[in-house]
Amino acid sequence: MTTAAPGAAPVLVVVDHHDDAPRSSAYELLTVARTLGPVEAVWFGAAPEAAVDRLGAWGVARVHAVPAAADLLPPERGEALAAVVEAVAGPGASTVLLASTFENKETAARLALATGAGLMVDAAALEAGPDGRVVAVQQAFAATWTLRACTTTPRAVVALKPNAVAAVAPDGAPTQPEVLTHDVVPAAGPVARLVERTPRPASDRPDLGEAQVVVVGGRGTEGDFSAVEELADVLGGAVGATRVATDEGWIGHEAQIGQTGVTITPRLYIGAGVSGAVHHRGGMQASGTIVAVNSDPESPIFEIADFGVVGDLFTVLPQAAAEIRRIRGEA
Ligand SMILES: Cc1cc2nc3c(=O)[nH]c(=O)nc-3n(C[C@H](O)[C@H](O)[C@H](O)COP(=O)(O)OP(=O)(O)OC[C@H]3O[C@@H](n4cnc5c(N)ncnc54)[C@H](O)[C@@H]3O)c2cc1C
Repeated sequence: MTTAAPGAAPVLVVVDHHDDAPRSSAYELLTVARTLGPVEAVWFGAAPEAAVDRLGAWGVARVHAVPAAADLLPPERGEALAAVVEAVAGPGASTVLLASTFENKETAARLALATGAGLMVDAAALEAGPDGRVVAVQQAFAATWTLRACTTTPRAVVALKPNAVAAVAPDGAPTQPEVLTHDVVPAAGPVARLVERTPRPASDRPDLGEAQVVVVGGRGTEGDFSAVEELADVLGGAVGATRVATDEGWIGHEAQIGQTGVTITPRLYIGAGVSGAVHHRGGMQASGTIVAVNSDPESPIFEIADFGVVGDLFTVLPQAAAEIRRIRGEA
């Protein structure tokens, strides 16, 4: 196990990765972390060289690889992360940043419990507080309230929503991060372990939780998602759905957005044939720009839409896709 580094307490960024490359949310966290203190990264698994180089280009001074954590589930990852945090910062202050996903929030909660840290999840922005503590900007009650919170403990664990900030690479030459491998021994006893992975069918579309553009279909599609998928593909976005659409079996449950589904914070949300029910709003109201296409001018989604089109989605969506292609010279 490694020992604590002298000097300022680091900001530890947990780097989510896929196919050995950091996910886009990791670059967003690194961008914010640079504003809070010296940045170090935690990589669950054996960190590949190319990824370490990439993290160096993004301002990471040290990479903490935790090989044993690669196949652990969130609660045990939280315990493993706690061991790393104790090794890096000892009892002193430190901030740990994660992307606010279902799994990471569970990891973060276990980490906070194990290290006596304060926990803030679903942050929409982070700021350095006057006493050096990190301040999380959060949205409550389906984004109708904004609040600023900081922990009463010196150590903070914060989960930041994907797409909440734009990822910006630092100026200056890349550094070569030091890689420290932590031989964390997973807890003995009856813990859950990942024994097998079944990859989802390959798709060129971005992950719903991380996508900058999400096109959502509701009951108004009557089960035909072709126009929704076409517009999503033209915009390089993900496809989402209301609970009605997933319950009807028109699309998989993993596409459901809302209170009992995925929470999304894309830059652009386009809802087609979606009424904007409160359970759906809870999962999308923090989107940057909300566009609604609905044939009923009285539909509640127009109350929260930045841009609304009253019309038939099967006419409006293909027209929008065609126009985008024309502007790009692809038509
Ligand atoms: C405990 C609980 C949890 C829930 N969790 C969720 C959740 O996580 N996510 C979620 O989405 N819902 C959730 N729901 C369900 C939610 O309350 C709504 O029923 C659901 O969101 C409505 O889906 P919808 O907008 O697709 O359908 P509807 O409300 O039926 O709206 C369909 C809309 O399509 C429009 N339309 C019809 N035809 C067209 C057309 N051709 N072109 C354009 N517009 C058209 C109509 O004008 C209408 O506004 C939950 C409900 C409960 C009770």
